[in-house]
Amino acid sequence: MTQIHPPARLLMGPGPIDADPRVLRAMAAPLVGQFDPFMTDTMTEAMGLWRTVWDTANEQTFLVDGTARAGIEAALVSLLEPGDRVLVPVFGRFGHLLAEICGRAGAEVHTIETEWGTVFDPGQVEDAVRRVRPRVVAVVHGDTSTTMAQPLAELGRIAHEHDALLYVDATATLGGNAFHTDEWGIDAATAGLQKCLGGPSGSAPVTLSPAAVAAIDRRKQVEAGLRTADDVAPRGAPIVSNYLDLAQIMEYWGPRRLNHHTEATSMLYAARECARLLTAEGVGTAVARHVRHGAAMLAGVRGLGLEVYGDVGHKMHNVVAVRIPDRVDGDAVRGALLEDFGIEIGTSFGPLHGVVWRIGTMGFNARRDAVLTTLAALEHELRRAGHPTEPGSGVSAALASYEANRDVGP
Ligand SMILES: *Cc1c(COP(=O)(O)O)cnc(C)c1O
Repeated sequence: MTQIHPPARLLMGPGPIDADPRVLRAMAAPLVGQFDPFMTDTMTEAMGLWRTVWDTANEQTFLVDGTARAGIEAALVSLLEPGDRVLVPVFGRFGHLLAEICGRAGAEVHTIETEWGTVFDPGQVEDAVRRVRPRVVAVVHGDTSTTMAQPLAELGRIAHEHDALLYVDATATLGGNAFHTDEWGIDAATAGLQKCLGGPSGSAPVTLSPAAVAAIDRRKQVEAGLRTADDVAPRGAPIVSNYLDLAQIMEYWGPRRLNHHTEATSMLYAARECARLLTAEGVGTAVARHVRHGAAMLAGVRGLGLEVYGDVGHKMHNVVAVRIPDRVDGDAVRGALLEDFGIEIGTSFGPLHGVVWRIGTMGFNARRDAVLTTLAALEHELRRAGHPTEPGSGVSAALASYEANRDVGP
């Protein structure tokens, strides 16, 4: 067997994307021990950097080791006690995932649904909150399955006026779309590195408001052999997972450094580097970059004569869903793009499978050359698949969009 040698790829789907080479370099840095001062300093630095990315003053801002789903599950199983009512507004696949995880945590799950390709009006959420009186409202910010981004600004107020906590899955949006944890009154939010944040999957940034921390800490368990009598006795139902027990994970990241798992050191380096790059660029500038390159991709696919799916006014900046033209085999075109150009674009789930492709412009790949190369290659494969396009129409439309949005972002 030879050393691992992956093919060169340009990952232009809905995530994962190519990690920024600086993140890959950070991951190759040497390991240190769990309580080495360098390790604990790096954890503390990462907490500070991620507070900037999340736009929060939350002390409890840290990483869960695992993919984005580990962050989601950690937040929900730590917040929800068996029998708690939870409201999940569902507008795509990931909303169903939140509902499923809440159910497994023993919560009484109530969902409201809106047609795929649309988002909720805050009034619809408020009506449901009045009716259900949940302890937690759990919602996805950007659901990559439909490309829609749910406006969040009102939801914190709505939840708090009815004594509920607000949890948000920001995996697909953070770093590429505005996200203001404190201003929007979000109590718990989680993400993953492999979308707009420019890293590989495997680390889940988390932030928790003081109210969320209080709700979780009351369930703190005493781990035999590790914790002493001065640890608080739990007053709530035990958290069903040990690995994803945020009460314990907070103590590991906190000043006492109480051992829980062995922090995934290389992923910590990666997550620190993702946040360092974003804060050096400026989070607002990174969002503007996603706006500009996302707009160019949108103009480009329209230039190719493709129809865009869903309510474009509520689309995430970083991904577009395009209808696969009649008589074109969507999977065959995707396969040819990969085979001939090394470019990956996304298929779709559930009701949208075979109906749309999803094309991302996110993280390290929210770049002009990546956008133009993808459009040129797609045009070629569409023509080969028997779909007529005017030569150069996608690239020209994208270039015109870049020109028009000169002042929008880098
Ligand atoms: C991509 C995505 C995830 C992915 O979770 P992983 O465990 O990292 O695969 C979760 N939620 C949303 C909204 C996503 O877009």
